[in-house]
Amino acid sequence: MIKAEKIAELTAAIRKWKEEGKSIGFVPTMGFLHEGHLSLIKKAKSENDAVVVSIFVNPLQFGPNEDFEAYPRSMERDLAVSEDAGADLVFAPDAGEMYKGKPAAAITVTNRVDVLCGKSRPGHFDGVAAVLTKLFHLTQPDRAYFGMKDAQQVAVVKGLVDEFYFPLEIVPVETVRESDGLAKSSRNVYLTEQERAEAPHLQKALQKAAEMAEAGEWDAAKLENQIKDYLNTHTTAEIDYAEVLSYPELAPPAEESKEIILAAAIKFSKARLIDNITLKLKL
Ligand code: AMP
Repeated sequence: MIKAEKIAELTAAIRKWKEEGKSIGFVPTMGFLHEGHLSLIKKAKSENDAVVVSIFVNPLQFGPNEDFEAYPRSMERDLAVSEDAGADLVFAPDAGEMYKGKPAAAITVTNRVDVLCGKSRPGHFDGVAAVLTKLFHLTQPDRAYFGMKDAQQVAVVKGLVDEFYFPLEIVPVETVRESDGLAKSSRNVYLTEQERAEAPHLQKALQKAAEMAEAGEWDAAKLENQIKDYLNTHTTAEIDYAEVLSYPELAPPAEESKEIILAAAIKFSKARLIDNITLKLKL
């Protein structure tokens, strides 16, 4: 496996693979890899000849009061587990390699960002779109893999790719969970013992509301209240949002919605956790 810290090392490998007619799968990450990331890498390996994993804690997608500095890092371990999972190249640039001085242009995401994490993290998806635009151009993947834990990110990135005709396919991958239902996340290490015990209730709150939706409850406000009541009863966390929307449009659900998302974000002392369930509606 190649470790590339410089853009020139990455593009040299890509050029070679392209000349050999190899397909390229791409898995963008911020590192501190867990089973969720590894499932993306394994899926990419099963569908492509060569797999590139990027490890880059992107300063542009963090707000001023967020955890950019404190974001957990573990490069040596990440390299070893990426290789085990089938990565052919890990691209791990520093911030100066990706952002060289004053930007000449920026990307503004104009759809699907006034809800969920886009609403509570202004500018977050502009930062995601900027770094992915750079990484997609450098990596030239046939397919890029994204986890459904970040379902809004999947929808926003599909929108970006469709809008600007990036010649690649976005592949969503199911959320990998701990045995008690908590979605795996690099940020779970911030949880205290008590918070870790409470954290699985995030998924349970969404499941209860999903059961109501499946039983015919269509009122988004009622479902949102159910999620909030459950979280308030079972956790000490502050609720950032609980929303029920159509997916992937992320608009208020309507009669004709084919799929909905139930999503919530909660804040513990140091960790902000997100989770969601998407439900196909039987029409
Ligand atoms: P991150 O390192 O948090 O930026 O995540 C990198 C990629 O891994 C994103 O596409 C995430 O959606 C995905 N991911 C993170 N956690 C999980 C999980 N528990 N299951 C599946 N994919 C995940």
